[in-house]
Formats: sequence, C-alpha cells, structure tokens
Amino acid sequence: MKALEEKILREGKVLPGNVLKVGSFLNQQMDSDFIMEIGEEIARLYAGVPVTKVLTVESSGIALAVAAGIAMHVPSVFAKKHRSANLSKEVYTASVYSFTHKETYEIAVAKEYLGAGDHVLIVDDFLANGNAIRGMMQIIAEAGAHLAGCAIAIEKGFQGAGDKLRAEGVRVDSLALIDSMTESGLTFRA
Ligand code: 5GP
Repeated sequence: MKALEEKILREGKVLPGNVLKVGSFLNQQMDSDFIMEIGEEIARLYAGVPVTKVLTVESSGIALAVAAGIAMHVPSVFAKKHRSANLSKEVYTASVYSFTHKETYEIAVAKEYLGAGDHVLIVDDFLANGNAIRGMMQIIAEAGAHLAGCAIAIEKGFQGAGDKLRAEGVRVDSLALIDSMTESGLTFRA
C-alpha cells in the first residue's frame, strides 16, 4: 500500500533495537481516515474469502481490527493480555513473548467469542518475530476455528517471521513490507 509506505517514510522514526515508531498515525495518535483506508484495503484483499471474525491482541492492533471489521461487516475480537497464567477455564489462552516489552505474557479470548464455525482473519499493526501471530494461531486452533489469513499493516521482513509463516502455508498479507531498516533509512520490498 503505497500510501502507508509514504507515511512511514514521512512520519516513522527508527529507534534502537529494530523498533519503528509510528505513534503519529498508528500507535498512539490514530489518523482516523487513514486507519479506515487500511481497513478497506484489508477488506479488498480478502474479498471472496469467508471471514466471520477479525482477531487481534490489545492494544495496538485494536484500531486496525475494528477498521477491518467495519469494512468486512464482521465483529472484531481482541485477545486480552495478562501477566499471570492463572486464568479461568472460560478462556482460550496462549503464551506470547513480547518483542517490544521483552517479557512473556498470556493472551486470552473468552470461549464465547470464538468457536468451531468461525473463519478468522488475524489483523495486527506489526509483524516482527511472529510471536503475537503464533499465539493467536494457537487460540484459533484451540477453538477449532479456521484461520483465513493474517493481515498486517507493517511487516519487518528482515526479521524473517512472515516468510517462515508463508513457507508453512499460512496466508500473510502485509500492507508495507520493510526489507531493511536503519536509523538513516528504510527500504521496502518491491
Ligand atoms: P512479534 O510478536 O511479531 O515479534 O511482534 C509483534 C508485536 O510487537 C506487534 O503487535 C507490535 O505491537 C509490536 N511490535 C513489534 N515490532 C514493532 C515495531 O517495530 N514498532 C512498534 N511500534 N511495535 C512493534
């Protein structure tokens, strides 16, 4: 998505540790119209693919998941993050190591919101090492639901997780795919 690449080049800031800061439009301040455009682009990519729910993890994925859900006319569900593994039996859970916070937490989705008949589209803001996606995939599998694919705003391709998922047969669509990233510049995959 050209508009996303241009926005990353204009407003993004590369921080130490391979972290791209996009607080001005995606992570803290939301560019409302642009978030909706991303949702519509995701809906276009998945037109004709059965999707009954969009799934993300709180908090940074929620805006995009809601935008995609609105554009696709399906509910969006977010997994909640918990520090402790001591959760009720009424939830599906998975452990996720956080790329940005360098700690492991549990993600949980209430069983009533995801079931065997669901076709689930995972949506997230970033794909780095793939831990968040794999945690959500585990929850989808636990629910006996079907994974329709993963739609990501920004994939950091140089971290390799997206291509590994693709090689495993998982559909992964990234609207901007960064091939290299240093404090002096970024390049996108053609
Ligand atoms: P992964 O689980 O793929 O390693 O990391 C994905 C999660 O970490 C995303 O949900 C996102 O919140 C966060 N994340 C990973 N890399 C970045 C980054 O470069 N910038 C920001 N803002 N968040 C990131």
